[in-house]
Amino acid sequence: MEEKEKMEERLEEKKARIQELKKEKNAVILAHYYVPDEVQEIADYIGDSYYLSQLATKVEAKTVVLCGVSFMGESAKLLNPDKTVLLPDEEADCPMAHMCTVEKIEKVRAEYPDVAVVCYVNSTAELKAHSDVCVTSSNALNIVKALPNEHIYFIPDENLARYVASQIPEKHIILNDGYCPIHKEITVNDVAEKKKAYPQAEVLAHPECTWEVLALADYIGSTSGILAHAAQSDCQEFIVATETGVFYELKKNSPDKVFHPASDVQLCPGMKKVTLDRVMEALLQGKDEVILSGEMMKLANRPLNKMLEMAQ
Ligand code: SF4
Repeated sequence: MEEKEKMEERLEEKKARIQELKKEKNAVILAHYYVPDEVQEIADYIGDSYYLSQLATKVEAKTVVLCGVSFMGESAKLLNPDKTVLLPDEEADCPMAHMCTVEKIEKVRAEYPDVAVVCYVNSTAELKAHSDVCVTSSNALNIVKALPNEHIYFIPDENLARYVASQIPEKHIILNDGYCPIHKEITVNDVAEKKKAYPQAEVLAHPECTWEVLALADYIGSTSGILAHAAQSDCQEFIVATETGVFYELKKNSPDKVFHPASDVQLCPGMKKVTLDRVMEALLQGKDEVILSGEMMKLANRPLNKMLEMAQ
């Protein structure tokens, strides 16, 4: 048998074993759009942070295997304190999740007593615990608009905050200097060159991209927004400025359309740590379990639940 065929056979065996283990352990597998294709293939549900955080409260299985980075595992645990939440690789982390501090939040609260601290879900449980409400890139605009506060400290992502500020000029959005290293690496030159090469293509960009890149976009939205737009658009060709994991679902939804990455650097190393071997180990050994202290659970759960209430 050819080496390639052997590899494919081994891959299929792993996928079948994961399905067996899932039943044995009464587990459900939730995967983010940015994890490798083969992990998305074995998942029960695939989605962005908002979809996964909502879904985690509805699934019946006792164990949730969260295929994503650590803040996603924490969010699933916060919303499901009675469930066992497993992260296939506890070192799968999002650098942006750590790009603010409690000291910075306290400083802004002292300066603007009526401020609302709005925390993008891509953040640690500790940052959430010191915030008033969480948001995702899907619901940030609606939630910030609905808050009664004039001053909004938006953490940790400066690019998403700038985008929100541009859409809601009546609010004073206080910026924090956090960023997603992957989206930040996509440059205006990358997008301009792709536009020159594929002039008929629409540019779809995630709001974690820089302001200059967003200025070149035909559509700006969350990962699910990008997927929905690409499926509905009459356009047949797209330049996509977000993590390349989303191409799996883009091609699945619209097999006849053509998708070009905006640059060569759109890979999130944290998300790519989540492999089939890791998922299998997580199910076999019950690791790595997300554990949060009782106090942290109480404080960080509040802004997440407020987001779910407000998003309805
Ligand atoms: S793509 Fe960026 S924001 Fe998303 S998990 Fe990776 S580093 Fe974090």
